[in-house]
Amino acid sequence: MGAARVLCGAEEERVVSTHKAPGACPRCGGAVVATDVESERRILCLPLCLKSKRKYSCTRCLRRLVTLYS
Ligand SMILES: [Zn+2]
Repeated sequence: MGAARVLCGAEEERVVSTHKAPGACPRCGGAVVATDVESERRILCLPLCLKSKRKYSCTRCLRRLVTLYS
């Protein structure tokens, strides 16, 4: 199962940039930071698709704030 997953390609995530996001964490009121991540799926060293997404997280409690902005 694990070997098959490796053969099918691993997903690589690379942080492109981080910047401060507006708003505050609903849990602790800490600052929210936005992280732009490039996600690349490779199959046998061939890049299959490249997609970028933005993640939000709290800098104080490190909680992921996905639902807040999506
Ligand atoms: Zn927080």
